[in-house]
Amino acid sequence: MRRLTAVTALALAACATAPRPPEKPMDLPIVQTGAEVLRLRAQPVTPEQLASPDFQALVARMTAAMRAAPGVGLAAPQLSVSLQVLVLEDRAELQASLTKEELAERERVPVPLRVFVNPTLTPIGEEQATFFEGCLSVSGYAALVKRWREVEVTGLDERGQPQTWRVRGWPARILQHEVDHLNGTLYLDRMVSRSFGTLPQVKARFAGKPAAEVLAAFGVE
Ligand code: ZN
Repeated sequence: MRRLTAVTALALAACATAPRPPEKPMDLPIVQTGAEVLRLRAQPVTPEQLASPDFQALVARMTAAMRAAPGVGLAAPQLSVSLQVLVLEDRAELQASLTKEELAERERVPVPLRVFVNPTLTPIGEEQATFFEGCLSVSGYAALVKRWREVEVTGLDERGQPQTWRVRGWPARILQHEVDHLNGTLYLDRMVSRSFGTLPQVKARFAGKPAAEVLAAFGVE
């Protein structure tokens, strides 16, 4: 089994076009940074689109792609579909390589599959948290990104039912990352640029180290 490290834990999704997941994420036709679709504001999903079999197929394809990567979130533009749809799922097995301390620092807990259509995100409170993020649309790299610690997201589920989710910690980070995708924003636009590095470099320097030590290395409070 492919083991995830702290820095690859948020490496997000890929595209699976075959029923059987590809063996390596690099085999997947992931839309990479530079592609225009990643910089567009995605279109809202209409009620007609929501009711169509095509839409359910898109959600299924996104979910399969996220799991195949494996990743913990995926936005439709990453599959070249400029619609406001995201999926999120953080399975316990993806967290197996992290220590209890690392999980606690990140406030990372298992999250069952959630689908948000036409989401609106609102920060709750003033607290923020900075940690490494990756993105399979920026394949092979990671950087520190400051995010709101707690957020509330409202939108529709995959059946078109209204839903609201107030959440903190790592799932809140994932949500902010994915909603950014729907607005044409990548973590590159928000990162502590001095911390940007290849995954092997970041892992070699910081894997397993306390968050405070990681942040101190870049002068981040
Ligand atoms: Zn991403």
